Amino acid sequence: MGEDVETLKRRLPLLDYLRQHNWTARPVGRSEFVGLCPLHEETRPSFYVNTRKDVFYCHGCGQGGDLIRFVQLSHHLSFRQSLTFLDPQTAPAVDASAVLDRAVAFYQQQLDNYPEALSYLNQRGVHYPALIRELEIGYAPGGSLRRHLTAQGYPFDLLRQVGLLNAQGSDAFYQRIVFPLREGKHIVNLYGRSIGNAFAHRFLPGAKGGLYAWEKVRHCPEVIVVEGLFDYAVLRQAGFDNVTCSLGTHLNLDQFLQLCEGQRTVYLTFDVDDNQSGQQAAEQLAHRLDAKSIATRRVLLPQGHDPNSFFVQGGDARQFKYLVEAAHP
Ligand SMILES: [Zn+2]
Repeated sequence: MGEDVETLKRRLPLLDYLRQHNWTARPVGRSEFVGLCPLHEETRPSFYVNTRKDVFYCHGCGQGGDLIRFVQLSHHLSFRQSLTFLDPQTAPAVDASAVLDRAVAFYQQQLDNYPEALSYLNQRGVHYPALIRELEIGYAPGGSLRRHLTAQGYPFDLLRQVGLLNAQGSDAFYQRIVFPLREGKHIVNLYGRSIGNAFAHRFLPGAKGGLYAWEKVRHCPEVIVVEGLFDYAVLRQAGFDNVTCSLGTHLNLDQFLQLCEGQRTVYLTFDVDDNQSGQQAAEQLAHRLDAKSIATRRVLLPQGHDPNSFFVQGGDARQFKYLVEAAHP
């Protein structure tokens, strides 16, 4: 938690934000500034900003905190609303979103041309063409995206900046099954699963966004959370529509807050691996959700399984439903 908040604060130091909003101050000491408090009426400056700690404190009204806290107080917003308020300054540019659309369309076209990609999907239990289309699953063979996109007029620098090309100018995704990660209409990132020997999971640089396909389930009274997109895909295929995916066991702040909005029961269905990392993450997350009065259940798969392997190795919807019903807080 807090990773994205830290990124945001690094990009926008409190002093820069205040100055953009016409706060005038004079330096006091090496890393402090003082000026009139923007939060209460005063004639003598008592509002201090510490640039080393990136925080403020007002001796007049007693308020203090970081950038997010300042935005909450000055605009009367909740914590989450403040993040949204500050977000346009960190959101990807319009042309970045357009180039990702093109890349995803290209990857989708490639899927049928590479038998190794289809056989990988098959091996992970993902069969239904309608679902593959709905999730916009594609294949990055590597070595052809740069040519394709530059021929369409996208500048090399933009492709580098978005992360589709690496520092050497080659395709960043090489022999990977690709899922676009959308927030509303916009693709905010891509997930690439290696079908070869390369490191299994890759994203483009930048935030991975909120919970996967959250719009589809946000009104469900019971939501199943899995950690991988192949878990997500097999559950959808098995007829479970109330599923979302956190893309790893560590939820970012947006994802955590999404689970906290409204009343629901969250079924955490993380991997049951030998080193217990999935279950430990589920337990910690359950505690944090509990503190926000969100009910949680932990779905216990057989030892060594994740939802994907459970279905691939013969588990069916009825058996999974049984596990969900047997899940305990
Ligand atoms: Zn004040």
